[in-house]
Amino acid sequence: MHNFEFIRPEDPAAAITTAAQAKTAQQGAEVRFMGGGTTLIDLMKLNVETPARVLDINRLPLDKIEPMPDGGLKIGATVRNSDLAYHSSVQHDYSVLSQAVLSGASAQIRNMATVAGNLLQRTRCMYFRDTAMPCNKREPGSGCPAITGSNRTLAILGTSDHCIATNPSDMCVAMAALEATIHVQGPKGPRAISFGDFHLLPGSTPHRETVLEPGDLITHVTLPPPTKESKHVYLKLRDRASYEFALASAAVVLTIAGGNVTRARIAFGGVGTKPWRSHEAEAVLAGRPANDANFRKAAEAALRGAKPQSENGFKIELARRCLTHALRTALTS
Ligand SMILES: Cc1cc2nc3c(=O)[nH]c(=O)nc-3n(C[C@H](O)[C@H](O)[C@H](O)COP(=O)(O)OP(=O)(O)OC[C@H]3O[C@@H](n4cnc5c(N)ncnc54)[C@H](O)[C@@H]3O)c2cc1C
Ligand code: SF4
Repeated sequence: MHNFEFIRPEDPAAAITTAAQAKTAQQGAEVRFMGGGTTLIDLMKLNVETPARVLDINRLPLDKIEPMPDGGLKIGATVRNSDLAYHSSVQHDYSVLSQAVLSGASAQIRNMATVAGNLLQRTRCMYFRDTAMPCNKREPGSGCPAITGSNRTLAILGTSDHCIATNPSDMCVAMAALEATIHVQGPKGPRAISFGDFHLLPGSTPHRETVLEPGDLITHVTLPPPTKESKHVYLKLRDRASYEFALASAAVVLTIAGGNVTRARIAFGGVGTKPWRSHEAEAVLAGRPANDANFRKAAEAALRGAKPQSENGFKIELARRCLTHALRTALTS
């Protein structure tokens, strides 16, 4: 691993001032915040990330989960994934989030990983992680070998001719369905970013993954008040039952009254270049009878824009079945 300076800032302001000296908050940033380090240190060992300064933010007062006056929930940036998943309000009112987090990684990694770090975890595309290979995300303009190469696990939604990398997070899929808001403190002050606006599609700039600017510190995430009587399901399909990333996953928050769907919030993981909210599937379900035929129609609508590569065409039907099964489980739970 390269040489770097390890700094423990005393307060958020000091952390932001130091990080603001970087030219970018995207791939190749010279200054990086560190939460659990389970993504960052991994990539530093591979020389994919080579920051000159690493700011350990674990001492900052960002580790609380608190109720909000409007009935929602405030989750600090350094809350550990395990603490989030086992928090009583999360288990009771936002169970899709608890299920999603617990489906990811391993108990040890979840004990280290933080909420903000999970929001910013990087793709598992093998070319991105191998500095001997070209990769537009790691080195803009160098090419994308995955498009003609090994792409079985890569994305079918939101891809471009420059990058087809999957966003690997489970937690983010649940947060997309819960319509979370990400709160950032930057050199120009605080701002709130809707979950759907936080991650960027690759387009012609796959090295830009989020709207973050130099110095932007994620301080917390908020969830809106829970939807009464809603059913929560996170279903993750993968090559082995644990310690594996999703080939396809679905987060479902479903409200049913008198046999009809009154509200549906749906997001996919494992298939999109960002956590993939499906407004199309939600629109198909709204106001319609909650039955298998409509669940299948919603799944068809969700995948209509999918663009398969040479090895991952199977993901289209896999994602359809994943959503259909998740909706059926929500109906009967
Ligand atoms: C073997 C293995 C298996 C895994 N399996 C899964 C899985 O199945 N599902 C899944 O979802 N994930 C999985 N993961 C990924 C894991 O969830 C992430 O590594 C973890 O969530 C990252 O959190 P962290 O706190 O360790 O991030 P860090 O490594 O500390 O940081 C990640 C990024 O976030 C930035 N950052 C951190 N905090 C802030 C902040 N407050 N403000 C701004 N920037 C910040 C850092 O600078 C860095 O760029 C796996 C990881 C490993 C190693
Ligand atoms: S898919 Fe994206 S991350 Fe993977 S090689 Fe292509 S540009 Fe790099």
